[in-house]
Amino acid sequence: MDCIFCKIIRGEIPSRKIFEDEEIFVFHDIQPAAPVHFLIVPKQHIGSLAETDMSHQKTLGYLLAKTGELAKSQGLNDGFRTVINTGRVGGQEVYHLHVHVLGGPDPLGPLLKKR
Ligand code: 5GP
Ligand code: ZN
Repeated sequence: MDCIFCKIIRGEIPSRKIFEDEEIFVFHDIQPAAPVHFLIVPKQHIGSLAETDMSHQKTLGYLLAKTGELAKSQGLNDGFRTVINTGRVGGQEVYHLHVHVLGGPDPLGPLLKKR
């Protein structure tokens, strides 16, 4: 399949891998927006959060349930931010569902400016 994250999961495109098991693949973002910025990707190709239904419950639950442990493994012991961009309005660039995990020593600031 012509999907950049499927290619990363298959090892056809190199990445700085953090963790892998039967459900998820975890790697550093190539263009970090914070001192620590990695992506948690389900191995199953799901285009976006707008395409999920109850058949994805196990995968999505698994992915989120792993997030805290993965964040701690990267030194994020004082909090972090998770982001899932969805579709055009959400600014999604890669159409294979992924969770951004962002953090570092200092507070990240507001997610969006309040209107
Ligand atoms: P989105 O905007 O879809 O939520 O985020 C896609 C993210 O994937 C971006 O933060 C971008 O830097 C990252 N990304 C895109 N291509 C690659 C790649 O080839 N390798 C890695 N490690 N990250 C990528
Ligand atoms: Zn994919």
